[in-house]
Amino acid sequence: MKWEQDYVAQAAQRQRIVAGFNVFGYEDAQAVIRAAERADAPVLLMLNRDARAVMAIEHWAALLNSLAESSRVPVGIHLDHCTEIKTIIRAIDAGFTSVMFDGSHFPITENLKITQEVAQHAHKKNIFLEAELGTVPYSDIGETEINLTDPEEARKMQEQTQVDWLAVSVGNIHRLATRKVSIQFPVLQQIEDSCQLPLVIHGASGVKDEEISQLKKTRVGKMNFGTVLRKTFGDCLRSEMREKPDEFDRLRLFRDPVAQVEEQAFHIIHMLWQEEK
Ligand SMILES: [Zn+2]
Repeated sequence: MKWEQDYVAQAAQRQRIVAGFNVFGYEDAQAVIRAAERADAPVLLMLNRDARAVMAIEHWAALLNSLAESSRVPVGIHLDHCTEIKTIIRAIDAGFTSVMFDGSHFPITENLKITQEVAQHAHKKNIFLEAELGTVPYSDIGETEINLTDPEEARKMQEQTQVDWLAVSVGNIHRLATRKVSIQFPVLQQIEDSCQLPLVIHGASGVKDEEISQLKKTRVGKMNFGTVLRKTFGDCLRSEMREKPDEFDRLRLFRDPVAQVEEQAFHIIHMLWQEEK
C-alpha cells in the first residue's frame, strides 16, 4: 500500500510512533514489511548514506516502491540524512515518499533557508520533509559531544519553514550497539512548548524500552532504527556460518538471519504502535 497521508503527524497526535528502519537490500526490506503487516502499522524503509554509496537511489526507489505497493499496510520510502539538494531532488523525482534535509551542521539561518527551499520542492510532489536542529553524535566514529536542540530555534523552524517533521537532539546518540542512553525529557518538553511540529528521534537503537512508552505520550511521531537490525542480522549470520561450515548458498545462509530481523522489527513496531494502557 502506498504511503499517502502524514502518518507521522497522526501518530504524534495519537500517542503512537512510526518506526523507520534503515534497509540495505530486498531481504531486510521484505522482513520489515512483513513485520509491519503483522503489527498492522505503517512503516518507513529508510535509505542511509552507506546504502546510497552501493546503489543509485533510482534503483533503490524502484525496488522499495514495488515492495511497498504490494504490502497490506502503508509503507513509505524515506531518504535519510542528506545535505545535498541535488540528491534530494533526485530522490523526490525517483518516487521517495519523504526526504530529510540535514542542515544541522549549517548556521541556523542557512539551515532554515535551505530547509524552506527543499520544502517547496518536496511539497509540489506531495512528499514530506524532515529537518534537523541540534546534532545527534555518531558513536561509531567516536563523536561524544551532544549539541542539544535549542527550543528557540525549533520555534523559528516552525515559523519560517513549511517543514513537516523535526529531528531533535535530546540525549539520543547514533549507532549504539551495546549500551543505552537516557532521553532528556525536560529538554524535549521545552521543545514541545515552543514548537508544535511532529518530532523525530534518531539513534533509536540506543533508547531504552521503558522510555519508548514515555516518548509515545510526547509529540514524537517517528523513531529511526538502524544498528539494532544490522546487529541482529550480523550476529545470527555469524553463528549460522559457524554451525554450517560447508554451506555456501546465500539464500540458505540468510534464512534464519532474515527471520530474526523480522522478529526484531515486529517487536519494535508493535511496541511503538500499540495503544498504551
Ligand atoms: Zn540519524
